Amino acid sequence: MKSIDHRRVYRLPWSLPDNPVAWLEPTSQCNLSCEGCYRENVKDGHLALDEIERHLDIFQRDRNPDGISIAGGDPLTHPQIVEIVTAVARRGLKPILNTNGVKLEEPLLRELRRVGLKAVTFHIDSKQGRKGWRGKNEIELCALREQLARTVAKVGGITCSFNQTVYPDTLDQVPDVVRWAADNIDIVQVVVFILYRSARLDGPFHYFAGGKNVDMQVVPYITEGTKAVYKDLKADDVIAKIREADPLYAPAGYLNGTEDPTSFKWTLAARFGQRGKSYGYVGPRFMEVGQAGHHLLTGRYMGYSPRWIQRMGLPLLAAAPIEPGLKGIAKRFARDVVRNPFVLTKGLHVQAFMIIQPIDVLPDGRQSMCDSCPDMTVYDGRLVWSCRMEELRCFGTFVQTVPRPDATTKKKAARPEPTIRARGTLPTPTDA
Ligand code: SF4
Repeated sequence: MKSIDHRRVYRLPWSLPDNPVAWLEPTSQCNLSCEGCYRENVKDGHLALDEIERHLDIFQRDRNPDGISIAGGDPLTHPQIVEIVTAVARRGLKPILNTNGVKLEEPLLRELRRVGLKAVTFHIDSKQGRKGWRGKNEIELCALREQLARTVAKVGGITCSFNQTVYPDTLDQVPDVVRWAADNIDIVQVVVFILYRSARLDGPFHYFAGGKNVDMQVVPYITEGTKAVYKDLKADDVIAKIREADPLYAPAGYLNGTEDPTSFKWTLAARFGQRGKSYGYVGPRFMEVGQAGHHLLTGRYMGYSPRWIQRMGLPLLAAAPIEPGLKGIAKRFARDVVRNPFVLTKGLHVQAFMIIQPIDVLPDGRQSMCDSCPDMTVYDGRLVWSCRMEELRCFGTFVQTVPRPDATTKKKAARPEPTIRARGTLPTPTDA
């Protein structure tokens, strides 16, 4: 049974043509090799600046974004990353750098800030093969997270966010990361947990593209044989773990799945606190007013709130009489102030939590994606899910999942002989 009723959480108003985020991939090259990565690592797989401008044109024409996630690959491997951030900012969009942080030195961060960078999201987890950090768990990696957060705070004016892929064998470390985030609420503004997904070659589905059986070995996101077989985690699993560290945790906004209106594909929460202290979470109404107000004032929904808002916990409490989440926060905070008025001088910080539950394949083979996917990118001139772009590169079309006839009887039938193996080869009509 789900721990949260989706009807009590605000369904974010984002849609395909009016979405606060778009996902730009200026490169497919990366300097790490993460187990949960969706992208083929292509050396020198950089897009030219004019191609990047074309992608931005498409985003602005079809998407109405507030911010552009500049991802990859690792975007810092692109030799023109400063020009790319400049190009995004010049259009009045918020550039958000999604990087593993390996190449991020303070002078480069200052330069990126100078040309308009608004936020940086570091992807850090324990299955990246990161030099100097191999074999470290999520708890030990908090030392690296803190180091990077301090650099961002020193440069100033940039929202600092961390995301990590959560695997079944790292789920138990989520509470420690949540506690670490509370201890650093003044320098860490967003924490994102992304649930690991892979295509299982030994699983209950056959894979087809263009009507033909395909060999999924050519896409990077597969699990087979000696690799651990993972159970698909759900947002509920992470919610339970977050609550171990912070029992006040309560989501305020969500996006459902395209095939399951009750599923939580993107789950958003925002807590108010001081270093090491959580005062509680805003309610759905707060998120609704924030999104609608931003759209009224700017014509766009809000992706990343500006850095100054994240320090505005105290003035935002003025809305407590009309917002139940804020009312609870105000009560707990007032109790502390009565005990020790000195806490007033520390202000109140806002920290967002996000859980992303990528594709779910339902038993009948339907694929439930994030409804109103915020991470759409451009492939061949059109908007596509960035998490499945490799399927287009490999097969020219998205893969369909068909339950194996033996899946319910538990008997193992032979896999149909794959007919598409090479990247980019589509069956000709006579193949079909
Ligand atoms: S469907 Fe979109 S939002 Fe969901 S995991 Fe894939 S790319 Fe991300």
